[in-house]
Amino acid sequence: MRWKSGRRSSNIEDRRGRRISRGIAGGGIGTVLLVLVAMYFGVDPSQLLHHVPSMGGRSSVQSLPAPSSSQGDEMADFVSVVLADTEDTWRSLFRRAGKSYTEPTLVLFSGKVNSACGYAQAAMGPFYCSGDQKVYIDLSFYHDLKYKLKAPGDFAQAYVIAHEVGHHVQNLLGISGKVHAMRKKVSKKTYNRLSVMQELQADCLAGIWAHHAQKVRKILEPGDVAEALNAASMIGDDRLQKQTRGYVTPDSFTHGTSAQRMRWFKRGFEKGDMHTCNTFKSHGI
Ligand SMILES: [Zn+2]
Repeated sequence: MRWKSGRRSSNIEDRRGRRISRGIAGGGIGTVLLVLVAMYFGVDPSQLLHHVPSMGGRSSVQSLPAPSSSQGDEMADFVSVVLADTEDTWRSLFRRAGKSYTEPTLVLFSGKVNSACGYAQAAMGPFYCSGDQKVYIDLSFYHDLKYKLKAPGDFAQAYVIAHEVGHHVQNLLGISGKVHAMRKKVSKKTYNRLSVMQELQADCLAGIWAHHAQKVRKILEPGDVAEALNAASMIGDDRLQKQTRGYVTPDSFTHGTSAQRMRWFKRGFEKGDMHTCNTFKSHGI
């Protein structure tokens, strides 16, 4: 990906090097357990976090020396460029649709973080919290993406940000709110299906970003799209379930299969039109 000359976003909140110490009160351990169980089953913590009750207890923030790793800083720089590119793309697409785009904030953290959706740990992976309209990422995730999930490449990393920003777009368009409202009204199985549609749509929206960023700023290098498609494939529910527990239960899918995730990213990328991202209306996703 050609990114070095790109604009840097002013919406980065760098909370790396801060230590959060929490009181004993509140549902901390329960939350951590819930999150670990969710991770084991390949559930997106972002989904979970929307529903974790707000934590009791007081937290205080302690400043530690800033990280000295230049690699970390280059990664932070990269994330800032990708975020800025999503801002430029979505601002223009929203304007074209007669809407205005509110930019999300991207929080860099290390280890643990408090969000409006609750307390989160790095191991849960990046997530978007609609409560504060912020994307959270611990950059160590990129190491896991490359080595554990076997999805290397800068464009795989960009796809991760674009997917979370896709959730922000869904939030602004009122889609997340509708899905959330359905939660108590439908069976677990149906809700999981809605969740899959929501996640595949975020993949499609990530593809839309890539389409327009390429059209306007020529960001892609050979192999980039393949990197994103590979990442989409590596984080499919079927693949993760097989990897973590050896078997697959489609009713528990919350993100979609590898094939679905690849298909929807590709669709967004090829068409570049948000109307093609209606996963909720599409049959046989
Ligand atoms: Zn997601």
